[in-house]
Amino acid sequence: MSRKKEDTAIVESNKLTDPYASMLSRFHAAADRLGISADEREILSRPAEIHIAYLPVAMDDGHIRVFEAYRVIHSRALGPGKGGIRYAPEVNMREVMALAAWMTWKCAVVNIPYGGAKGGITCEPKKMSLGELERLTRAYTRAMSKVFGPDKDIPAPDMGTSAREMAWIVDEYSRLYEGNFIPAVVTGKPLELGGSKGRVEATGRGVTTVILQALQRIGRRPEGLTAAVQGFGNVGSITAKYLSQSGIRVVAISDKTGGYYNEGGILIHQAIQYRDSHGGVLEGFKGGERITNEQLLTLDVDILVPAALEDQITPQNAPNIKAWLIAEGANGPTTAEADPILNGKGIMVIPDILANAGGVIVSYYEWVQNRRGHYYTESEVQERADNTIKQAFDEVFTRAAAQKVSLREAAYLIAVERVVRALRMHGKY
Ligand code: NAD
Repeated sequence: MSRKKEDTAIVESNKLTDPYASMLSRFHAAADRLGISADEREILSRPAEIHIAYLPVAMDDGHIRVFEAYRVIHSRALGPGKGGIRYAPEVNMREVMALAAWMTWKCAVVNIPYGGAKGGITCEPKKMSLGELERLTRAYTRAMSKVFGPDKDIPAPDMGTSAREMAWIVDEYSRLYEGNFIPAVVTGKPLELGGSKGRVEATGRGVTTVILQALQRIGRRPEGLTAAVQGFGNVGSITAKYLSQSGIRVVAISDKTGGYYNEGGILIHQAIQYRDSHGGVLEGFKGGERITNEQLLTLDVDILVPAALEDQITPQNAPNIKAWLIAEGANGPTTAEADPILNGKGIMVIPDILANAGGVIVSYYEWVQNRRGHYYTESEVQERADNTIKQAFDEVFTRAAAQKVSLREAAYLIAVERVVRALRMHGKY
């Protein structure tokens, strides 16, 4: 333990809410249990590559603003780097490093042939014009043109980005490569540019699928259960929609402007319509009484879905959480220090690297379709994705029961084991 602590000092931090420290502590716990070598531990506790660019962008007022942009490849042991691009004011290097590593474990746990990567730009997309966002995205693509590639590193949307940004990336990247149309360089594209049916809904659908699978494995029916969902973007709103379709009453939702509680159940389609016609936020929604995000996390509900940001469930609020099932729609919503508190309370936590893997699973199908030039129907995509995530859930559930560990520990054991096996196959450099 002491050697690895010293070895990884460069990437360790004492900050309680440092997402990279949270990632490392789960990784080291799995590595200890698996008995992997110090060398393998050394490789996987650091990112393989970090790319930083300062992007000068012409703003609408004629001034130039320089944006800090990252792309981190954590591992290519299982395949090309894969992971989204985040546009948000809080984006920083350690966050992107953690997100990249989580992608490595996520792809491994659901058994798709990708490594882990992530990108981010520190910016406030809601305060930028369409033209500014397009120039920023094209500048980022040019800066990362040697990093990205269908067999090297394949970005996708994350917080603050969507199919629109992916379309600009394909266009810019294809121009850089002499006009060859290269849709497989990025996933989460619009259908018109080679996107996959079912991609937009894939993450929220996957979150719901693992919740239903967990309920089935413990012999509970969804009807009559209640849920609270934090975050009402792509993941949160689609999870809320599918949960309510499955008979679960979603009594609380929230976004960065605050939360809403309705004991009888929030009408999710109304909330989505409201958000879409009010600048993408729930501010002023009348379908429930106002609550704070902090109150939402500790509501007396059966199921809690954090689907916004990292570090939301902490040692401070974990003792007050009343839900008995948590499905992590967001990446890293629980700090490592909160894990033992949740475990001690007997709360079943479906970890991020499994719960929100539906998106990357369908991204993989998108990439496969681009390369084959043959496209699946929506139901084909959904059936394949549902089966893949259910199978991954069952493997994690069975391993957790066999080794008497939490679902998170079991997911890390499976993921780290797969990546380490691939590392060994690659041989020594
Ligand atoms: P998004 O930008 O579509 O939505 C984010 C939501 O979180 C918005 O409703 C925003 O208002 C809300 N939010 C922001 N700050 C908040 C705060 N302090 N309190 C409460 N809500 C807050 O992003 P998304 O794509 O839905 O991603 C959400 C999370 O899911 C992120 O952690 C992301 O990494 C993860 N994720 C996304 C995907 C995907 O396919 N989009 C896949 C896997 C994981």
